[in-house]
Amino acid sequence: MLDKIVIANRGEIALRILRACRELNIKTVAVHSSADRDLMHVRLADESVCIGPATPADSYLNMPAILSAAEITDAVAIHPGYGFLSENADFAERVEETGFIFIGPRPETIRLMGDKISAIKTMKEAGIPCVPGSDAALGDDMQANMKVARAIGYPIILKASGGGGGRGMRVVHAEAALPHAIGLTRREALAAFQNDAVYAEKFLEKPRHIEFQVMADGHGNVVHLGERDCSMQRRHQKVIEEAPAPGIDEETRARMGARCVEACRQINYRGAGTFEFLYQDGEFYFIEMNTRVQVEHPVTELITGIDIVKEQLLVAAGHQLSFSQQDISLRGHAIECRVNAEHPESFRPSPGKVIHFHTPGGPGIRVDSHLYDGYVVPPYYDSLIAKLCAHGGSRAAALARMSNALTEIVIEGIDTNLALHRILIHDAAFAAGGTDIHYLESKLA
Ligand code: ADP
Repeated sequence: MLDKIVIANRGEIALRILRACRELNIKTVAVHSSADRDLMHVRLADESVCIGPATPADSYLNMPAILSAAEITDAVAIHPGYGFLSENADFAERVEETGFIFIGPRPETIRLMGDKISAIKTMKEAGIPCVPGSDAALGDDMQANMKVARAIGYPIILKASGGGGGRGMRVVHAEAALPHAIGLTRREALAAFQNDAVYAEKFLEKPRHIEFQVMADGHGNVVHLGERDCSMQRRHQKVIEEAPAPGIDEETRARMGARCVEACRQINYRGAGTFEFLYQDGEFYFIEMNTRVQVEHPVTELITGIDIVKEQLLVAAGHQLSFSQQDISLRGHAIECRVNAEHPESFRPSPGKVIHFHTPGGPGIRVDSHLYDGYVVPPYYDSLIAKLCAHGGSRAAALARMSNALTEIVIEGIDTNLALHRILIHDAAFAAGGTDIHYLESKLA
């Protein structure tokens, strides 16, 4: 087993990783910014190292500082969590070159999947259905671009090949707007992702976001853990996720899951990963692969009983997967509400001191959160402060438990989006299941 690892992240996911390490008797090093000395996992870790000031570029994205921390603490591996350096192939490469284990896929896999154009090409070759699109970066010849867009058919969505986090995308409804939109998206992509490659895809009008969780050990064993529905989104950011996806039958799950497993084999995948699809009129369209643990992994854990983070650590230590596809069965239904430190109507971030935090409980409730009474939410990072999950024998039972939990949870001192969740959980369309990715924004409007 791994002896000691560096947790190169913060907030709830850092605590989640620490908990998995504790179960496996792995020692932990929390690397944190100067603004994060009071984080829960920093207090609980065996060791902690301040790696720089609050600005992410100087701390959580500071590769030399993280590698030095691993060296001085004699750690053997680095878990990147999600966000920050988790999908940075150069970082994974440097981690391995320095002699540490990167808890994730091989650097070349991250590079291949991190570039959306190469990911789509690879997936098409592996038999995964993709959104009709340009299949290549748009060039400087606007006449040629117009031809490509016309062939796809408006509306189209321009996407940065190096994009992520819901940024670097622009919908174009008519040809007249295309040249300007391409120029703008390119400039934004260059500034945000240091890569100005932009491609075009058919903009699907009413899709749902359905993704498949996979797990591979690098020894040829690959399984899928079913799917999640993450259609409740605002500005391309997920707000509520659930597993399984309403209305997806066993046959469809098995067929799509098997395709994802086969694609993993072809790219020699290792670790936890997610195939994201848009789903419309009974068809799946691949949009991207995330080569890391995802925020919403708990809903899959709740219905499969598999600890995805522990499995990541075991795989990184060279173990084979502790289960095969036949061992996996889905039990009941799970829902996750992302609780953010933000105003429920304006969505303005709301950092500050948490005066009181009370976690709900009872059967089927899970709360992943780094909050505690007196904790000060810093203004520099993502606003996610808690993931509230409910599991039940059926979707209705999970919804009922979530409704209870939302009544019980108390977060005082800062604004949160709990009020929005309380409305959504009783929303008739959401309760029926299967709302599309535009539902939340149209409801808010
Ligand atoms: P990111 O890497 O930034 O998360 P994705 O490619 O995963 O970007 O897309 C994020 C979200 O954007 C999707 O969940 C969906 O809501 C929307 N989206 C992406 N591609 C399309 C498309 N072709 N048509 C409609 N919506 C899309």
